[in-house]
Amino acid sequence: MGMIEQKDIIADLHIHTLASIHAYSTLQECIREAKDHGMDYIAITDHYYNDGSELHRKNEVNYMVYIEEWANPNRFGVKVIGGAEFNINHELYKEKRLREKLHWRLLGTHSWFLDRRATSLDRLFEYFEAGSEKFNAFAHIERELHKIDNCRYGSEMHEDIKEFFQKMVVLAKEKNIYLEVNEGTLARKEPGAVERLEYWLRLAKENGNRISLGTDAHYCELIGGFRRSIALLNKVDFPMDRIINCNPDELDTLLPKKK
Ligand SMILES: [Zn+2]
Ligand SMILES: [Zn+2]
Repeated sequence: MGMIEQKDIIADLHIHTLASIHAYSTLQECIREAKDHGMDYIAITDHYYNDGSELHRKNEVNYMVYIEEWANPNRFGVKVIGGAEFNINHELYKEKRLREKLHWRLLGTHSWFLDRRATSLDRLFEYFEAGSEKFNAFAHIERELHKIDNCRYGSEMHEDIKEFFQKMVVLAKEKNIYLEVNEGTLARKEPGAVERLEYWLRLAKENGNRISLGTDAHYCELIGGFRRSIALLNKVDFPMDRIINCNPDELDTLLPKKK
């Protein structure tokens, strides 16, 4: 199998705009930067935070539902896929309009929304399992595990963590869910996370999983920069034909259907 290079990656499937609140760029800035960095496709995957107020719920849902209509077609030649990054224990993924209108739905662990002390790895797995029918990809599954269950795992590669990943690759394959290699994980170097990512990626390779790549950019200049992900994919010799970001036909299946 040939080495993966930056030019082989034509999509960034994890991007945040200003709408995520703790991100800094507008939709158009993201699209322009994506173009400059050689991306043909991007998925906008803003967080959803609804704090319970009906007005916020309506605003956030409407923002996400219409993103493809605003951004496609556009004059920059980048195809924009509407998406969102959901939290594992959040009710929002039950919102029917979002499931119908968003073509790239990520599910990930965000400890802001978890009781970190009380959430065990088993409970975490149950969250992923419970919502699995409604998502396209599991995002950064290696993240925040050092904070789970009263920080009992630290940065070590405990047997329980290995078992968690073994269950996750099986679940993802069974439910046709991509597992995400997240450039942000590799850049941020949270305790043990890089080792955990390499561990599950090797399992995913052997298990025949399909994967997706995302920079998790919270600022537009980071879009499309996959230097660390590429190094890791080549280190484990991951096959390019199982990476959606390298396959235009597969990416096209995510685009809004022509009316
Ligand atoms: Zn974020
Ligand atoms: Zn994100």
